[in-house]
Amino acid sequence: MTSYDAIIIGTGQAGPALARRLAGAGMTVAVVERSRFGGTCVNTGCTPTKTLVASAYAVHMARRGADYGFSAGEVAVDMKRVKARKDQVAGLSTRGVERSLKTLENCTVYESHARLRSAQEVEVGNEVLRSDRIFLNVGGRAAVPDIRGLYQVDYLTNSSMVDVDFLPRHLLVLGGSYIGLEFGQMYRRFGSQVTIVELGPRIVSREDEEVSQEIAAFLGREGIAVRTKASCFSVAKEDDEIVLLLSCEEGPTEVRGSHLLIAAGRRPNTDDLGLDRAGVKRDKRGYIEVDDQLRTSVPGIWALGDCNGRGAFTHTAWNDYEIVAANLLDGAQRRVTDRIPAYALFTDPPLARAGMTEAEVRRSGRRALVARLAMENVSRAYEKGETAGFMKLLVDAETKLILGATFLGTGGDEAIHCVLDTMYAKSPYTVLQHAMHIHPTVAEFIPTMLANLAPLSE
Ligand SMILES: Cc1cc2nc3c(=O)[nH]c(=O)nc-3n(C[C@H](O)[C@H](O)[C@H](O)COP(=O)(O)OP(=O)(O)OC[C@H]3O[C@@H](n4cnc5c(N)ncnc54)[C@H](O)[C@@H]3O)c2cc1C
Repeated sequence: MTSYDAIIIGTGQAGPALARRLAGAGMTVAVVERSRFGGTCVNTGCTPTKTLVASAYAVHMARRGADYGFSAGEVAVDMKRVKARKDQVAGLSTRGVERSLKTLENCTVYESHARLRSAQEVEVGNEVLRSDRIFLNVGGRAAVPDIRGLYQVDYLTNSSMVDVDFLPRHLLVLGGSYIGLEFGQMYRRFGSQVTIVELGPRIVSREDEEVSQEIAAFLGREGIAVRTKASCFSVAKEDDEIVLLLSCEEGPTEVRGSHLLIAAGRRPNTDDLGLDRAGVKRDKRGYIEVDDQLRTSVPGIWALGDCNGRGAFTHTAWNDYEIVAANLLDGAQRRVTDRIPAYALFTDPPLARAGMTEAEVRRSGRRALVARLAMENVSRAYEKGETAGFMKLLVDAETKLILGATFLGTGGDEAIHCVLDTMYAKSPYTVLQHAMHIHPTVAEFIPTMLANLAPLSE
């Protein structure tokens, strides 16, 4: 048995940074990774998808040449080269994480599946490691719904989809949320026919209704078919086609395509981790239960990143690392509940969100003010010829603190940070309103919008 001051299982977004901090503080650290270094974000999530989104955007803009005064001839997409570009970008990241861990002083890397044997012991292949501090950063994977016939067809998930090097003739996407919409739009732009099938009454149903409508509208203009209130209960293969049978109120009860992407949520990698042997509690969906400082039910074991169910993003996993490191090494008292919900959906244009949605503000019952601005009134947007979307800000009528923001439009994923930082500073919206912003930017319209705050109607 080999003893360490700390054992980290998983090299996603929290583990490697934590390893660097702990090893830098003089601790001996064991890091265990069973697959590719860098985890989901680097290999099958953010990095590959945003690299592919960039290719799809370039294709889209080339096709719009006439709008900008040039002609590029017929645009031909070579999916092998698109994938090669993705491999190159993602490869740099994964190799960077691997190299940094393997050359880190005080750090030993194990490449194997890890399972807890007890509250202080971890089985790694034929070895047993021991430590009083164990950090679980095991992430998650695509959830595959239990649909009749699904296991008889070659379906894709985000993991296999990022390695596709051909153009599907007709891509069926099961799930109209963040992952499904990003892939759907990019493949439409590459040239596939795309049908998105969503169980709920609207796509991205966690967002305000007007957000779902606007996204559905711009996807529709690009020729993407969206089927909502459509529950897929059976999948079959007929010749070279995949057939989805739907239970739905409107539209055909059958959709056919050449390929099927499952984008129906995520599940944590906690089912083969030996949690029961160590006494670490999970919730009903398999997420590891943690307190506000990310401590599990067992002293000396922490859970960070997607596996704790307290976030589903790279920035939340990274923030988990910051919280745990600061509390352990700097004597801080940082907490998960100190962070403000923030994320983006990287369609084009992107959706950026901070704080509460309008629906959440309404449910909270507080008196609020709201300001809205269509992107077609934002000079930067019309100069760029990208006017889809709108911006919306919600403010507490009494405290003047910003409650939430929704920026659906070009540049919104960057401009939202003005709002986010004002919220973190706990400053009233007037601070943001009085700041002089740079022209012409999307952010310069935030003060303009704030001048038009009006009571949120009943
Ligand atoms: C298609 C897609 C697009 C996304 N886009 C974005 C985006 O644009 N922005 C954003 O913020 N987030 C995005 N995300 C989410 C983001 O990728 C995750 O939130 C983030 O990667 C979570 O990191 P993590 O540290 O929790 O774990 P992961 O990155 O999932 O890493 C976990 C690691 O643990 C390893 N592991 C698991 N079990 C064991 C074990 N028993 N033994 C050893 N090793 C083990 C795994 O192999 C993996 O390497 C996206 C996700 C997907 C699927």
